[in-house]
Amino acid sequence: MKLKQYFYLGILTFSLFLLASCQTKGIAEQNILDRVEETQKIVWGVKNDTRLFGLMNIATREVEGFDIDIAKALTKEILGPDGKAAFVEVTSKTRIPLLKNGNIDAIIATMTISEERLKQVDFSNIYFAAGQSLLVKKGSSITGVESLDETKTVLAVKGSTSALNIREHAPKAKILELENYAEAFTALQSGQGDAMTTDNAILLGMAEENPAYTLAGDIFTDEPYGIAINKNQQDFLNAVNTALATIQENGTYQEIFNFWFPSVNN
Ligand code: GLU
Repeated sequence: MKLKQYFYLGILTFSLFLLASCQTKGIAEQNILDRVEETQKIVWGVKNDTRLFGLMNIATREVEGFDIDIAKALTKEILGPDGKAAFVEVTSKTRIPLLKNGNIDAIIATMTISEERLKQVDFSNIYFAAGQSLLVKKGSSITGVESLDETKTVLAVKGSTSALNIREHAPKAKILELENYAEAFTALQSGQGDAMTTDNAILLGMAEENPAYTLAGDIFTDEPYGIAINKNQQDFLNAVNTALATIQENGTYQEIFNFWFPSVNN
């Protein structure tokens, strides 16, 4: 090959490389606030199987819960009255990958702000305070996390902080991890485990619907919930925090809280 040909080949390779890097840049490096303002739509990753926070209503095909109503209120604050909140189902395991891939703009899905997760995503200010607990069948000998010895199996959900924390708080117990909360509760009902563990507020939703089950013992961790947003999206993060502060000040937050948690005084 002549020198000139090498030169052209080099330019071609370099241009292809540039083109490829532009495309992969895409979603992750867009300014999300600019985009949602333009499309008038925010896509929220939410739970679809968690009563009180995000649960699919089969009859209406609408997802309902505290996280959903907060997302709708934040959308109106950020985009104005015509802004639309769209919802995509996430599980504890899929939520960060879906955010990173640009399938969703933010996660509002019973998600604890943790050091580990802060390495991957940013979080809004705390919008709900939960704590980890246990759910057992009424009459169970388990009275708290200290009852979980080597003879007990605890059910947890993959990708949750609960699945990690329980190993620390009940190091002798066997842990069985399921894909989501619907599966974990079914496993508890069918006797695959002696207790199920996650946040008290999620377990409360299950116990309310299934009176044969009850919470056992006090909370043994703090689980402050935050809204997760991709890294390097400071504008969108600020917009979410400002909107959150506004709904906390104008009473909207309290109204939503009282609707979903009428028995909790705060
Ligand atoms: N708040 C805990 C967590 O973020 C448990 C609830 C959940 O799995 O979403 O992992």
